[in-house]
Amino acid sequence: MAKFQPPLRLLLIGSPGSGKGTQSERIQKNFSVSHISSGDSLRKNVAQKSDIGLQAAAAMAKGNLVSDDLMTLLIKSELDQVNNANWLLDGFPRTIEQARILDSMLIKNMQPLNLVINLVVPEEVILGRIIDRWVHIPSGRVYNLSYNPPKVAGHDDVTGEPLSKRPDDNPDTFKVRIQNYHTLTAPLLEHYEKVMITLKGNTSDEIYPQIERELVNRFGMMPRRLETSS
Ligand code: ATP
Ligand code: MG
Repeated sequence: MAKFQPPLRLLLIGSPGSGKGTQSERIQKNFSVSHISSGDSLRKNVAQKSDIGLQAAAAMAKGNLVSDDLMTLLIKSELDQVNNANWLLDGFPRTIEQARILDSMLIKNMQPLNLVINLVVPEEVILGRIIDRWVHIPSGRVYNLSYNPPKVAGHDDVTGEPLSKRPDDNPDTFKVRIQNYHTLTAPLLEHYEKVMITLKGNTSDEIYPQIERELVNRFGMMPRRLETSS
């Protein structure tokens, strides 16, 4: 008899540019998992000039964090839309206060986080990545001019729409983002230590197979490319 498997409640944590978005895209491609990205969702709000976007834009441009209250509002509405399916969070929670709010939200309505993956990539590798990074704002798809270029320069592979450079992807703002990561987000590693694993690598190609192995071994999840052959 098949063993009961709880739905995946995954958090990807890691410094700016550690590949959370890229890994999320791959997980989504290979498994039935909804992706909630606080950064993607904020950038969409900024592009649409929504109330949330207007309130968040200045802090984001400087590399500072948006307030916990605003983030909670945003993520709550995203979580309401995915109900009880497998999901993964990328970019939220990012402070101890946000983690407490999320934990209590999940206890009331859903299963708590059951896996936290800490992505560790050397800082000098990351800086090179963000300088070359372009994004498709509506979908959050990420391209890199050196190792993952779009098929047509400056355009998204799927929709053909134009790509943008994130205003916070420059060396000065990156410094602020890294500092904020160390002071505000790194304490979460201890908060989630019971459900956390750390995966290291210089490239997302090195790290992704390790993530996949964890999802298969811990949750009995089957990558789509293998489903048809069994
Ligand atoms: P990367 O996308 O390369 O992993 P990152 O983690 O710095 O880098 P995003 O997660 O896209 O970037 O976030 C971009 C900006 O959005 C942050 O610098 C911050 O201003 C804001 N932001 C995103 N998530 C949160 C959050 N949970 N709390 C507060 N601010 C946030
Ligand atoms: Mg991201």
